[in-house]
Amino acid sequence: MTSNEQRGLDQMGFKTEAELLREQLIAWRRDFHAHPELAFQERRSASIIADRLRELGYQVQMGIATTGVVGLLEGKRPGPVVMVRFDMDALPITEENESDYVSQNPGVMHACGHDGHMAIGLGIATLMARRRDEMAGTLKLVFQPAEEGANGAEAMVKEGVLENPRPDVFLATHVWNEKPIGTVDVSSGAIMAAAEKWTCTVRGKGGHGALPHQTVDPVVATAQIVTALQTVVSRNVSPLETAVVTVGTVHGGDAFNVIPPHVELSGTIRTYDPATRETVLRRVREVIEGVAAACGAAAELEIVSLTPAVINDAEVAEVVRAAAEAVVGPENVSSGERTMGSEDAAFFMQEVPGCYFFLGSANAERGLNAPHHNPRFDFDEDALVLGVAVLMHALAHYLL
Ligand SMILES: [Zn+2]
Ligand SMILES: [Zn+2]
Repeated sequence: MTSNEQRGLDQMGFKTEAELLREQLIAWRRDFHAHPELAFQERRSASIIADRLRELGYQVQMGIATTGVVGLLEGKRPGPVVMVRFDMDALPITEENESDYVSQNPGVMHACGHDGHMAIGLGIATLMARRRDEMAGTLKLVFQPAEEGANGAEAMVKEGVLENPRPDVFLATHVWNEKPIGTVDVSSGAIMAAAEKWTCTVRGKGGHGALPHQTVDPVVATAQIVTALQTVVSRNVSPLETAVVTVGTVHGGDAFNVIPPHVELSGTIRTYDPATRETVLRRVREVIEGVAAACGAAAELEIVSLTPAVINDAEVAEVVRAAAEAVVGPENVSSGERTMGSEDAAFFMQEVPGCYFFLGSANAERGLNAPHHNPRFDFDEDALVLGVAVLMHALAHYLL
């Protein structure tokens, strides 16, 4: 079947089939929601997923990057290996919702929608298992720990999740309260930023607050560094490119009448384009070290790369676009949703061409539109049905 045939109609009935799974999808999601688990502690979630995958006939591997689960379904005929990734971790947030599936784990909450991702993953597992005999190729379902800032994806890559078999195509989605339910956003190119964390110690020479001439004041040096850093994006990055340099912390001094010997600061750098990234990293270093030197101080800067940018492959994005159009109609499929947030799916996507797309999940009328990571976050569970249907259409393109 070509994309053109797929476009605009639910020819293979995936939407209907996903609809029939609705109660089950919601039950899975609410169970995960009520029992959220933090990064690398997703043991309950992982064992529920692994049990279900085994029942469906998948080959299951557990314990990858501590709690990661992989389910493999090999078709009867040769074909591509398609990997679909679902993240499992919750956040250290105390839930303020009053639903009957509210978090039972105090201080921990599925406030990003990863409970929904796991339910969608089990939905896909169920519908694809029914088609095993027709499948040409292999489905590799990857349930990943620790997406929220702990780079579970990188840990899974290090433990070989991209081998045996190596995926040819990568797919992932995120329920997205920035977009209304019934819409899907699919873009090619960069959609989420490369992220760096930087930390810096500005060293001067401490002394009496009344005798500054006998000191090298790291507070004054730091003030100038923070101001000068604002010129990196405004003066060194092309106005047509995108970048962020943020100073997140400044800590120095203990007493009003003492010039401290050093000040600690830290921040983050976000970029899409690799060349822009190189420019920004170089200029941040030059500015910090140069301004410190001009003040007679010294700066020790460490820049740590957290995640690469999420860059969608144009061809895979086209397949996902057609899949989304078949489910929600072309008028409800947009492109261009981008964020300077980061997402560790980038570790998979720098190795395997793929598409990461946004599944609209907000319903303002029902009050289901709090932002992600908010204690009142919740989403319209229609997104579970739509997510399964869109992914099934995309998988059908490669495997059926
Ligand atoms: Zn999140
Ligand atoms: Zn998330």
